[in-house]
Amino acid sequence: MAVERTPLIAGNWKMNLDHLQAVAFVQKLHWTLKDAKHEDGSVEVAVFPPFTDIRTVQTLLDADKIPFSLGAQDLSTQDSGAYTGEISGAFLSKLDCGYVIIGHSERRQYHGETDEIVAAKVQAALKHGLTPVICVGETLEQREESGPTAVSVAQLEVALASVPADAEIVVAYEPVWAIGTGQVASPEQAQEVCAALREVIASKLGDEAAARTRVLYGGSVKAANIASFMREPDVDGALVGGASLVVDEFAAIVRYQ
Ligand code: PGA
Repeated sequence: MAVERTPLIAGNWKMNLDHLQAVAFVQKLHWTLKDAKHEDGSVEVAVFPPFTDIRTVQTLLDADKIPFSLGAQDLSTQDSGAYTGEISGAFLSKLDCGYVIIGHSERRQYHGETDEIVAAKVQAALKHGLTPVICVGETLEQREESGPTAVSVAQLEVALASVPADAEIVVAYEPVWAIGTGQVASPEQAQEVCAALREVIASKLGDEAAARTRVLYGGSVKAANIASFMREPDVDGALVGGASLVVDEFAAIVRYQ
């Protein structure tokens, strides 16, 4: 029997919305989605605010019984200690974060995160009970040089090297050339790489893990294109940047059907 994967629509706020703006945003989003499918659990909605907003958003979700999942945008490879400016996965789980984004291309590009650092962060997330949202994706030059799947496949292979078969993970295919550019991948391009990534999960973690693990597409996802991605068999949701900051747009993405 085929395993049902609950679609995940994840909003990566990046460095946007302070904690006061976050309250207004989450309340409005909740109100706008009142009768949407996420209320019955058939679509999971997750928000990934900046670190300084997380405590405030956690309190709001809890007090108003808002059924959004909560995640962070990064974590430290370390548990605690003399690491100025770092945030431990232990702290994030105490704040009821279920998820943490790891290896976003902006962290790879601006903070020098290598595949090995990404793999260490995946281990740190799992150690603290967080589901890593492992981001992979190629630049335009890499796509031209080595084809559509090679870079993402290689990145995921390193990230999964020491992950146990029963670990809960999410994988996000985010072609760098499609992030924040408005130059969206076609549904066929997304499907091709997402299917290749599912094969990596199968070879590293087994068929059962490959069948239950959600693989997302990210890169200029909007209300107008989400349905075409969700029709693809290996795309189980979206990691949304810019459009996750506009209540009506993000709500329309959640209501993609
Ligand atoms: P975008 O960003 O939707 O603004 O292209 C996606 C992401 O970086 O996760």
